[in-house]
Amino acid sequence: MNFDFSDEHLLLEQTVREWGARDVAPRIKDLDRAHTFDPRILPQMAELGLLGVCIPAEYGGAGMDYVSLGIASEALEYVDTSLRVIVSVHVGLNSLSLLTWGSEEQKRKYLVPQAQGRLIATFGLTEPAAGSDVRGIQTVAVQRGDRYYLTGEKMWISLADVADTFLVVAWTDLDKKKARDTSGLSAFIVERAFKGFSSGTLKEKWGILAGNTGYFKMDEIEVPAANMLGRPGEGFKIAMFALDQGRYTVAAGATGLIRACRDASATYAKERRAFGVEIAQHQLVKQMIAEMESDYQVSRLLWMRSGWLKNEGRRNTRETGLAKWYATVASEKAAGNAVQIHGANGYSDDYPVGRFYRNCKGAVIYEGTREVHTLMQADYVLGYRTDRPTRCELPPYAASST
Ligand SMILES: Cc1cc2nc3c(=O)[nH]c(=O)nc-3n(C[C@H](O)[C@H](O)[C@H](O)COP(=O)(O)OP(=O)(O)OC[C@H]3O[C@@H](n4cnc5c(N)ncnc54)[C@H](O)[C@@H]3O)c2cc1C
Repeated sequence: MNFDFSDEHLLLEQTVREWGARDVAPRIKDLDRAHTFDPRILPQMAELGLLGVCIPAEYGGAGMDYVSLGIASEALEYVDTSLRVIVSVHVGLNSLSLLTWGSEEQKRKYLVPQAQGRLIATFGLTEPAAGSDVRGIQTVAVQRGDRYYLTGEKMWISLADVADTFLVVAWTDLDKKKARDTSGLSAFIVERAFKGFSSGTLKEKWGILAGNTGYFKMDEIEVPAANMLGRPGEGFKIAMFALDQGRYTVAAGATGLIRACRDASATYAKERRAFGVEIAQHQLVKQMIAEMESDYQVSRLLWMRSGWLKNEGRRNTRETGLAKWYATVASEKAAGNAVQIHGANGYSDDYPVGRFYRNCKGAVIYEGTREVHTLMQADYVLGYRTDRPTRCELPPYAASST
């Protein structure tokens, strides 16, 4: 075992940290308060190679390993959750699915420009009436000749009003839809430019305010059969595969949020005085900071293990789920305690911890709710759940691809 990051990893971490501190951190409070997503962030992230960080160079990416994706996610969420969400949907959920399940033609047409940041991508599974219960989605894709016609609505989609391409899951077998048999689901690459596509931003959201979250509607949009990802009936498997990658970025991101809570709390606790001493001297305040530190370290080890398994080309659904569940729940506790340590000042936007508190909650809901992950982990232990091999697996990291 080797827990050390390579020089390349450390350089990536430093690059993201310096960019975030210089170009985003000074503006994030205003962006957040104004509920504004700044699209100029995307070309900057592309310039840094973050939009294709672990995509092989032959497909336009930076050719780094999967641990690098975790490092970038942690460093981005240290600044703001909205930055990490971009990497989660664009790289984790979408691009890695194309890399693994896509045809060579699909990779050339979509993956290469995505990895270079010329196309922005996201993932559309959730619908107004179905989130955890994927079988409950209503979007249908009807085949006529060499086209599919997709009709439905996707809701709570990160970058819905920004992205150019969408990985969409829809029913292609209507009998199986009735029977709730997931082998009737298929996955499609949908372009914003397709006729009948429309999108909007959710305005009432109260967290991740500097991020774009929205909906998109598909009104009989015409999708070439060549845009089906994988084979007919593989949509559910592809969606679950995508979540293995997305959850990894969420786990590492939540780890960054815990670190941000820890650092802000430690700084404040040494500035603020109560009862004649710095509040850091009070044991109950120390306890909250100590728990942030232990949760940070545990969360970090958990996502690092997932990254290592991905590099090795080994299945990691169980480990990644655990990392995501643990880190997100811990980040909610850390953010609550960070506000607590700041007292009334924590209840104001003058300090960042209120933003951390609002931002952390989303990750306890998306990419498998806390309850879904609780059940999954219990089922692994109880032997009710095992992971079966799928036709396509995430390619192991090959150092030669750099
Ligand atoms: C900020 C944000 C960004 C998002 N981005 C995306 C995105 O980019 N793409 C996308 O496809 N989706 C996205 N989502 C949607 C997200 O994945 C769903 O919200 C999530 O899957 C939960 O679904 P739901 O909201 O419909 O809740 P429901 O599934 O209706 O669950 C409601 C509650 O019931 C509980 N529950 C449900 N079933 C069970 C069960 N069997 N046992 C115990 N408890 C249960 C849940 O844990 C939860 O507490 C996003 C959500 C948010 C908040």
